[in-house]
Amino acid sequence: MNDSFHVYDTTLRDGAQQEGLALSVADKLVIARQLDGLGVGFIEGGWPGAIPKDTEFFERARTELDLKHAQLAAFGMTRRADLAAADDPQVAALRDSLAPVVTLVAKAHDRHVELALRTTLDECLAMVRDTVEHLVSEGRRVFVDAEHFFNGYQDNPAYALEFVRTAAEAGASLVALCDTNGGMLPSELGDVVHTVIERTGARVGIHCHDDSGCAVANSLIAIEAGATHVQGAANGYGERTGNANLFTIVANLQLKKNLHVVPDDSLAEMTRIAHAISEVTNIAPHTKQPYVGFSAFAHKAGIHASAVKADPMLYQHIDPEVVGNDMRMLVSEMAGRASIELKGRELGYDLSGDRDALSRITEKVKVLEAQGHSFEAADASFELLILDELKGEESQRFFDVESWRVIVEQRQDGSHMSEATVKLHARGERIISVGEGNGPVNALDTALRNAIGQIYPELAELELRDYKVRILEGDHGSSSRTRVLVTTTDGRDEWATVGVQENIVAASWNAIVEAVTYGLLKLEG
Ligand SMILES: [Zn+2]
Repeated sequence: MNDSFHVYDTTLRDGAQQEGLALSVADKLVIARQLDGLGVGFIEGGWPGAIPKDTEFFERARTELDLKHAQLAAFGMTRRADLAAADDPQVAALRDSLAPVVTLVAKAHDRHVELALRTTLDECLAMVRDTVEHLVSEGRRVFVDAEHFFNGYQDNPAYALEFVRTAAEAGASLVALCDTNGGMLPSELGDVVHTVIERTGARVGIHCHDDSGCAVANSLIAIEAGATHVQGAANGYGERTGNANLFTIVANLQLKKNLHVVPDDSLAEMTRIAHAISEVTNIAPHTKQPYVGFSAFAHKAGIHASAVKADPMLYQHIDPEVVGNDMRMLVSEMAGRASIELKGRELGYDLSGDRDALSRITEKVKVLEAQGHSFEAADASFELLILDELKGEESQRFFDVESWRVIVEQRQDGSHMSEATVKLHARGERIISVGEGNGPVNALDTALRNAIGQIYPELAELELRDYKVRILEGDHGSSSRTRVLVTTTDGRDEWATVGVQENIVAASWNAIVEAVTYGLLKLEG
């Protein structure tokens, strides 16, 4: 392990404070493996002794985790004011977790000591000294989190500095200065870090929260000022606005500051790891997250696209592949032939040799987007459009719809029921079929599946994953239109299709027909 600089992850402890985030012990074990895969040096597993689930995590970690890079850290408080460290059951729980590292948290802000802890500053320092000495004598490596350090330093710098000296002299490997309220700005935070190192000679780490939007910037400036240990959470999880995003920090250090903090081949896994962790936390990935977000390297606009084609590095700050992400072209109404050609290439179609088809597709996209279509999030609809132009519309159609209708009924007990009838032609047959559902779209989907399910049994594998409706403002006196975006999966991949009509049911029907057509094309070929 690289001990000269620490990447210390606190997703499982501080990150788990995020609103709406609840992790089981099994979840924590999965996340720990992912973080180890990224190559972080330390994983803070939780607070054994205080939280039963965290006690269990450390027990199970001994047999179920086989960490390649990381060491586990147990987090907890210094001894109580009225007990010797060796007699305090909370301190014993930290020791008995058998984690090689114990991170002790204590108050570095005098007002917190007096108001919350209700003890004297001297006693608080004695609690830090005794607990560090005890755990070091038990063979543990000890880090100390100086809680509320920066606000404490502003109010009473003498106590804050004494806190750091006391922890270091007692044998703590380092003191992590915490911007617990997250309100600091980079320049002043950097000055404080610099002064603390100069005045105490202690090894210093940094722990930031994002309340001022500066958690990553604050972490970086602290490192410039001499901090050699940085704490943060995966995807910036954490209470309020979150902890410093560890992924952004790691990528910045590695790619911009030439600090080798994780193995290069792990860095290329970062996008996958970020998404794998959001699967476990069940929090949708933030599309605009730096480096690993879905939109982090997405390009729009026609003029821009032709230059991107010539040299992608003109328009992006790094090569997305080094963090495992991809450049994406967005098909938009500003799109010209260049971005359509690039988008086609991304989907596996070389349009460069067929200028006529390229012109027809570009023209069609412009017309459809003027009507309210958006292909940015509907790659499958865009691919069907390309195929129609390249191979002719007939070759892509598995069925021809003659008509459909749907009725919605409210019953006496207030419940709703929809019934749809679909008439279509498939394999030379005219088929009429009925479907029921709790809503009109559901009833139409059922009727369509009833109609062609026998002919195309693979249809049973397709499942509607997501359904989004957007009402588009009408302009120039025209009425408003509805855009429906449908996401469908076959259990392996998922694809999105779009439908636009004045009527919400008609828009949904169009999106579903495209979803099924695309699915059948995919399953058959
Ligand atoms: Zn924190």
